[in-house]
Amino acid sequence: MRASTYRDTSVNVRSRLIVAIDGPAGAGKSTVARRLADALGYVLVDTGAMYRAVALAALRAGLAWSDEARMGALARDLIEQRALSFERNATLGVRVKLSGCDVSDAIRTPEIAQGSSLVSAHAEVRARLLDLQRQAGGAGGVVLEGRDIGTVVFPNAEAKFFLTASPEVRARRRYNELVANGANDGANVTFEQTLADVKRRDAQDEGREVAPLKKATTAILIDSTSMSIDETVAAMFAFVKKVQRE
Ligand code: C5P
Repeated sequence: MRASTYRDTSVNVRSRLIVAIDGPAGAGKSTVARRLADALGYVLVDTGAMYRAVALAALRAGLAWSDEARMGALARDLIEQRALSFERNATLGVRVKLSGCDVSDAIRTPEIAQGSSLVSAHAEVRARLLDLQRQAGGAGGVVLEGRDIGTVVFPNAEAKFFLTASPEVRARRRYNELVANGANDGANVTFEQTLADVKRRDAQDEGREVAPLKKATTAILIDSTSMSIDETVAAMFAFVKKVQRE
């Protein structure tokens, strides 16, 4: 079933909700969140893209991702200067801009994935982006995807999901994505390296002190190891509709 099949046409809905989707790298959050947002007519907020943009800005400025003080100052400057923005493009979807330049593709490399995981462990970086995320989602009618949306950013979100899958399946999806996007010609990244990256990022995201990746107690666990994207979106859509009717 395509997202458009269950597009919302009901009028008697309670409100425009905050929908949180958390989970580890490669669980399919981005695709599922985009389709769910489209089906509900909601705005999509990709919080991982914010951490990736900070990592890219650091790389370009020659700053070390491990340097807590510098990363905190960089995130503060980017926010204060409004250098980080998201724009909806009719054909390309949401585009991420850094100081006016479209970096949507530049933030999707394995290097930036690793860098974003490192910068996201710094408390000040998280605090700066938290404000941005709350501003983006506070009015409702929004699907936010990330690692700590249901636990920290919007613990009172009306619909919370924790989407996961086995590391092997997640790595396979990531690897296929890299090949499809042309970021990998088959020679520079192997499936085994992608699996190792996925496991390392899991360990970093789950093991950090500030806002570690974990399922909110009230989140619905969805294991997409043997579920299609359509099935996953349909299950989430049905739950959101149920909450709206309550
Ligand atoms: O979801 P994505 O892979 O784009 O996220 C990149 C990195 O940003 C993650 O590995 C994670 O370390 C960090 N992140 C986070 N909290 C969020 C979203 C992403 O720490 N809410």
